[in-house]
Amino acid sequence: MSLQERDKKHIWHPLTQHKTSKASLGIVKASGSILWDEKGNQYIDGIASWYTAMYGHCNPYITSKVTAQMLSLDQVVFSGFTHEPAVELSEKLIEILPNNQQKLFFSDNGSTSVEIAIKMAMQYHFNKGEKRTTLLAFEDGFHGDTFGAMSVSGLSVYNGPFEGLLLNVYRIPAPNGTNNKEVIELASKLISEHAIAGFIYEPLVQGAAAMKMNNAEGLNKLLQLCNENNIITIADEVMTGFGKTGTNFASEHMATQPDIICLSKALTAGLLPMAITTCTQDIYDAFYSDELAKGLFHGHTYTANPLACRAAIAGIELLQTDTMQTNIKRIIASHQSFASTIKEHPKVKNVRQLGVIFAFDVDIEMERYGDSRNQLFDFFMKQGVFLRPLGNTIYILPPFVITEDELQKIYTVIEASLALF
Ligand SMILES: *Cc1c(COP(=O)(O)O)cnc(C)c1O
Repeated sequence: MSLQERDKKHIWHPLTQHKTSKASLGIVKASGSILWDEKGNQYIDGIASWYTAMYGHCNPYITSKVTAQMLSLDQVVFSGFTHEPAVELSEKLIEILPNNQQKLFFSDNGSTSVEIAIKMAMQYHFNKGEKRTTLLAFEDGFHGDTFGAMSVSGLSVYNGPFEGLLLNVYRIPAPNGTNNKEVIELASKLISEHAIAGFIYEPLVQGAAAMKMNNAEGLNKLLQLCNENNIITIADEVMTGFGKTGTNFASEHMATQPDIICLSKALTAGLLPMAITTCTQDIYDAFYSDELAKGLFHGHTYTANPLACRAAIAGIELLQTDTMQTNIKRIIASHQSFASTIKEHPKVKNVRQLGVIFAFDVDIEMERYGDSRNQLFDFFMKQGVFLRPLGNTIYILPPFVITEDELQKIYTVIEASLALF
């Protein structure tokens, strides 16, 4: 029996309506930018397996570091104990993070990194004797699938059934350059009327909202407004972190730095699940006390797993190499030249790019998981390219190691797909 057949018996897949979805494709191997299915077909991974495997699948440098670690220390409790991989990773990350970030709190995935950020923001005020339990977020945001993360997210397919059980959140439109003034006015009004603890946002690119881009100047003004009102700012860099926007972190595009940053996805280079919530000294100090109850009583069993830390250190080392930085520049330039041709196509609108993140909309209505969208997905796969259109948005977020030939093939297949409509 094929993997595909055996899978159907017991496995419940994420983000899937099993009654109407096709069976899952069995993947047996991955290397660099290529995935192989169980029939031997190859696919270029145009989205780096959800923005994780940025240095290529099964990267030998990373796998060798993790293998060596596995033979000396596999896992140990992180409450009361520490270890070299975690300490080394903290030193490496602090070197590249915006320089107001001083402390790191480990967890397992993007959603939990957000959960922790929200708890930090709320307890920060609680510890200072202030009751602030409301949050501010962008419309159409996506921050994950746990309850706190769902609360601050704006997409209703994901959180619809749980409305009424979620945290108290006010949503504002993301600034886009033309609405900046109105957004700031609305935020000021909400801030004056409610006890807002924190503001969470995806800096410059809202991934799940179909690579919707927001405006750095408008966002910077919002961050300043939050600072003036002692509202904790939380940059969800789960998607944008580690080189994808052309800088190590998207937050570097703004002059005002966030109080808290959420990291996951490319953090461990696609090898193992891990997340980190980073914060300023000021946040940490609000929990530092003779009173036990003022501590952050949150912890996951696999916190700071040594293997995941090793993968993360190796990933950061690769990101800092000249080769990787040159690759990033090459992809940015290739996207720019593809943008200039594709934007003339009559069925193409809203061409947008930030760093290696490239997107445009096909000029027809498509449901997020509707037939036309699926037709597009199937067309790409048949041509050997793995892309996941979001409704009528086609986007590319390739691994940094993608070759120029592979990248050009993605562009060619995308151009050909437009003849479907
Ligand atoms: C993917 C993502 C999350 C959730 O991360 P998981 O690891 O899937 O829980 C949160 N925020 C952003 C911006 C993301 O892209």
